Order: sequence, then structure tokens, then C-alpha cells
Amino acid sequence: MKEDIKNLTLEEITQFLLSRGEKPYHAKQIALWIYRRNITDFAKMTDLSLKLRQALETNFSIQKLILKEEKISEIDSTRKFIFQLKDNYLIESVLIPNLNRLTACLSTQVGCKFGCIFCASGMRGFIRNLETGEIVDQLQSMMEEIKSFGQKVTNVVFMGMGEPLDNYENLIKAIKIINHPSGMNMGARKITISTSGLPEKILRLAQEKLQVELSVSLHATNDELRNALMPINKRYPLKELLSACKEYTSLTKRLITFEYLLIKEVNDRKENLRELSELLHGFKCKVNLILYNPFPGKEFKPSPIEKAILFQRGLQRKGIITTLRQSKGSDIEAACGQLRRVHAMQEDRANRDASLVGTPE
Ligand code: SAH
Ligand code: SF4
Repeated sequence: MKEDIKNLTLEEITQFLLSRGEKPYHAKQIALWIYRRNITDFAKMTDLSLKLRQALETNFSIQKLILKEEKISEIDSTRKFIFQLKDNYLIESVLIPNLNRLTACLSTQVGCKFGCIFCASGMRGFIRNLETGEIVDQLQSMMEEIKSFGQKVTNVVFMGMGEPLDNYENLIKAIKIINHPSGMNMGARKITISTSGLPEKILRLAQEKLQVELSVSLHATNDELRNALMPINKRYPLKELLSACKEYTSLTKRLITFEYLLIKEVNDRKENLRELSELLHGFKCKVNLILYNPFPGKEFKPSPIEKAILFQRGLQRKGIITTLRQSKGSDIEAACGQLRRVHAMQEDRANRDASLVGTPE
């Protein structure tokens, strides 16, 4: 099968052009056709020579995700998109409206290896990394879908299915394409990576010189609790994670946001608040408190709102910038971290159907 040209950054397209004795500036033209004009046929790239168009055709394909389903939340207008990959797996992407923002939440893997016990994404384990093109196309396809309503995506968050830093190379390439003026042209500061906390990758990210935002899913205030909620903590305990976060901040001069899910009677006790303020004492960072989004099969419940407000005030009193938000799209199971379970069944069905008609390409 030919390589999807969307897996290549503009620099890589330029390398291809140079290797064929073509002018490097064609990379921009090609990107504009693909990402701005949504062309999926090299023959239509009429400002390129016939020879170059044929060379592209011979070497590459232009893939599109198949949109299987779109659901709109009646509560808050969050839109969930279910896309089918070429091997039939299903992934989800979400558009979340908030005041004058429209945030696209993208997936980076099918499933997740990390198995946090409160999250649906890892419930059926890990299947595979998404390719660069599959990451970018979630955004491109959603933008196409909403264009007719005159809407524009203003922010991108990697908070869908999977652990972005566990698919590091493809993630960084996707960000470069999303950020490039001839690509999706989205400002780096409008892009947020969320991670369960992989210290080596956080430090590697600091070297990339990308102006992206980084969120770290903390969710617990001591190693015992974090080990129980997020198995990755056994490999990288809090001390190691926080020291990488501090180094990231000092290298990039960018504030990290710590995501803290509030789960009733699990991590919302008084001592958790005290431990959290101690843990982050003297560290210039932000905290984002999120009410847990329950789903069947897990006994966890969200903390009551009064508790959440208490947490917010408590942290603010310690000088920590703290926001509180509720997961969106709860009626369409669009909340971040909920993106795996709902489609497992559909996926099984799609694969069964496919096996009846032969292996998909
Ligand atoms: N793997 C990355 C990004 C995907 S999850 C990470 O863990 O950060 C995005 C966010 O959703 C994380 O902060 C995650 O902890 C949170 N999340 C998982 N399950 C959730 C649930 N049921 N309700 C609310 N947030 C959830
Ligand atoms: Fe994976 Fe993030 Fe869910 Fe943990 S919270 S299982 S790292 S997607």
C-alpha cells in the first residue's frame, strides 16, 4: 500500500521533492491542496507539473478517515465524531463549544496501554498507534463538517483516546502539520497535549521548541493513591514526575497545567487538598479541577460540587491558579477518557463483517 502523504511533514515532502530534483517550494503548494482545499486526488493539483503529479501519484496516496457517525449533545452542543480507520478500528474525536471557543479533542491511539482505573480508554487494552495522517485528519474532517455552519475550530487538545506521548513521533509530526501556515495553520499556543505523566517524554518535549501547552494528569496526591488509580505511577512515581515537570517549566518558561479529577471519596478528602497544596508548593503551575464523568461498569462517582468549590478555593488561597470544569457531552459519552468503550462493540462488528468479505487493505 502506498504511504499516505499526510504522514509526512512539509520538511519531509520537501526532502522527497529535492530527491527527485524538484523545487522545494512545491511542498507548500501540495500542503495547501491537501489541507486547505481538501483535495484527495493528485491530478487536481493543477499548479504542479504533470510529471510531479504523476510522481506523487506513484509514491503516495491521500487518505481520508471514514465518518461513521456524528452525535450532538442536547445538553451542551458538544459534537462527537466516530471515524473508521483503514483496518476498521473506530476512533472518536469531539468538538467542544465553550463561550467563543471551539475546541477539537483528538485521539492519538486505538486504546491505551496505561490502564488508569477510572478511564474507559484503556479498558480493552492497547491496539495501535494512530499514524500522523490519522491524527491530522480527525481535525481536518471535523473542520470540513462544520464549515457550512460558518464555525471554526479555535483550539486543539490531545485528550481523546490514548496517551499522546506514547505515540511521540507521530504526535509531534501531526502538531507540525496542524501548526504550519500551509497546513492547518493553528497557533501552537492553541494546542494542548495531555499526558498521564511520562518524565522522559516530557523532557524530550521540552527540547522540541514548540510553543504548545502541556497538561499533566495528576489525579492523586500521594504515591499510594496514584499507584492505585494510575498504574504508570509505579514506574514513574510522583517525585520523578514532578521533577521532570519542574525541569520542563524552567527549560521552556511555560506553565504546566495539572489536571485533577475529583472522584467522590477517592481523592477529594481534606488531606488530599492539603497534600496537593504541599506537592505543588512553590511550583509555578496551574491546576484544572474536573468533576469525574461516571460511566456504567465503574463504581466511581463525581465529587459533589461543594467539595469541588472547596478544593478550588483552598488551592487559590495557596496562590495556585485553579480552574474548575465539568466534563462536556456527558449524554453522548463524549467526555475525554470515555472514548473507547462505547465503540468496542461496533468495532467488533465491523471486523467481523470485514472478515466475511476478506481482509481489508
Ligand atoms: N492519556 C492522556 C490523554 C487522554 S485522557 C492523559 O491521561 O492525560 C484525557 C483526560 O481525561 C485525562 O486527564 C484523563 O485522566 C481524563 N479522564 C479519564 N477518564 C475520565 C472520566 N471518566 N471523567 C473525566 N475525565 C476523565
Ligand atoms: Fe490512557 Fe489517559 Fe485513559 Fe490513563 S487516562 S488510561 S493514560 S487515556
